[in-house]
Amino acid sequence: MEIRKLSAINRQSFIDEMTNQELDLLVVGGGITGAGIALDAATRGLKIGLVEKHDFAWGTSSRSTKLIHGGLRYLKQFEVALVREVGMERAVVHRNARHIVLPEKMLLPIVEGGSLGQTMSSIGLWVYDLLAGVENEERRRMMGKEETEQTEPMLRKDILNGGGLYYEYRTDDARLTIENMKSAVQHGANCVNYTEVVDYVYENDKVIGAIVKDHLKDETFTIKAKKIVNAAGPWVDTLREKDKDGIQKKRLHLTKGVHLVFPYEKLPIKQAVYFDVPEDGRMIFAIPREGITYVGTTDTNYKGEIGRPTTTQADVDYTLSAINKMFPEVNLHSADVVSTWAGLRPLIHEDGKSPSELSRKDEIFQSSTGLLSIAGGKLTGYRKMAERIVDLVVKQLQSENSTYSNLKSCLTKNMRLSGGEFETQEAVETFITKRAGEVKQIYVAPIYVRHLVHKYGTNTDIIIEKAFELYKDISNPEERIHFAELWYSIHNEMSTNLCDYLIRRTGRLYFQRQTLGDLYPKLADMMAELLNWDESKKLREMAKFKAEYDEVLDFSTQKKMV
Ligand code: FAD
Repeated sequence: MEIRKLSAINRQSFIDEMTNQELDLLVVGGGITGAGIALDAATRGLKIGLVEKHDFAWGTSSRSTKLIHGGLRYLKQFEVALVREVGMERAVVHRNARHIVLPEKMLLPIVEGGSLGQTMSSIGLWVYDLLAGVENEERRRMMGKEETEQTEPMLRKDILNGGGLYYEYRTDDARLTIENMKSAVQHGANCVNYTEVVDYVYENDKVIGAIVKDHLKDETFTIKAKKIVNAAGPWVDTLREKDKDGIQKKRLHLTKGVHLVFPYEKLPIKQAVYFDVPEDGRMIFAIPREGITYVGTTDTNYKGEIGRPTTTQADVDYTLSAINKMFPEVNLHSADVVSTWAGLRPLIHEDGKSPSELSRKDEIFQSSTGLLSIAGGKLTGYRKMAERIVDLVVKQLQSENSTYSNLKSCLTKNMRLSGGEFETQEAVETFITKRAGEVKQIYVAPIYVRHLVHKYGTNTDIIIEKAFELYKDISNPEERIHFAELWYSIHNEMSTNLCDYLIRRTGRLYFQRQTLGDLYPKLADMMAELLNWDESKKLREMAKFKAEYDEVLDFSTQKKMV
């Protein structure tokens, strides 16, 4: 049987499948929460559809700190159950997607006047490991001043008292979302980007479907479903407001978080550091990866348009000040920033609490019309969030109709995501070495293979195969790989434009922005060929990407809103 693919070419057939039948479940929102729900529900045997008003992971799920972490600082707030759950989930998410969830040693410097002293840091990290069931060799290690200085020589020395080393995981949030979405589609889900729920359909005051607008075709259609889950992240309340029942009791509280990206040589730290911001006692991360170091995040109340939070000069100044105090030799300025991103946390409001004090716990809201909404939570805990809400959906379906009595229970704990079929981290390295040897035949440098595997895992084989096919047609090896990767992204990841590809499928706008000025017009030509764009469509898509390309370095104020 042919494997179902998340292809831009199949987009219309997915829409047809959703409109030609009544679904068991319609998921609104294609971030990590929606993608996790789609996979969980599809693998239990439910007929499921997912609609996303922009691109998959367009909202918060491409704008996080990109860590799969237990949330050390939540221990200070005594959120023991939360730390335990997300701490345990780290290992599960890593095991199921070893190609994109990589172990990252984190250094916690202990400084004079910092939020935690030596004893409290030691106890805190010990409890953190214990709650998450961390293996012996990965447990925290406390260090004295000298060893901490050697571990990270860039740290400010006059206030340093020591440090702790502990394990977290680094990921690419948008790619984690897309790998979930691809796996969901393989198991029968229909997931479509650029489709927005604009209204609901009711029968006897119960929600039985949604009116959906296809933004690529400018068409509107109805999807009928027994259950609807609103997983719209920061837009959860917007969708609750559209419901007849409106918003009962609890509301969302949105806070903005910004990250700055520097060339690695401007902030050449040897390893990831989680450090204090002296001004307000908050903590932020500095994380080196692939030629850059990124730092974040801020946490400020957000009252603007939800559509497009942006990085302001105040965000830049705050972050620069924190970096320059902790790493005094670097003396960074705004002009050193090479990219940024800003996202909104969809948290649950609690009276009198500041942004950093608000709980990161997820919650489910049930409306009297039957609409279910899920909000709060973390990228790290997405699989458990999905399990909880699909359990509820299954329970409701079973109580309404006996045909659902044989549904499976949650299977995702031991399910490898698309591309993640590796049993160990060494297996990922062996795969990279083997494929790097093979592509030498077509003059492709081994480093490209590493980059591909850390995005696509075992699916890299499809890209390499395509590159071999193009061997004679395209003489430049680099262009061959770009074309093959883009081809894969369109046919397997529903990339429909340059922004989808350069921002959410590959992260290039954030991590390799300096290389894009020359590259994106060439990619536009390739995309025009693969998607049959005429010249004016190509120019429009190039202009849209250029606007995003410029905006990440425009810190003036809140700008254009979508
Ligand atoms: P989103 O990703 O926003 O997805 C919701 C989607 O719904 C959007 O794509 C939107 O376009 C779509 N939508 C909205 N309205 C409609 C409609 N009418 N019809 C169809 N679709 C619609 N967590 C961690 O575990 N680790 C971290 O390191 C971390 N860092 C963070 C740093 C920052 C700055 C922020 C802001 C968050 C961070 N988080 C982190 C939290 C994590 O990123 C979020 O919890 C998670 O991404 C939320 O995902 P979501 O799917 O619920 O929302």
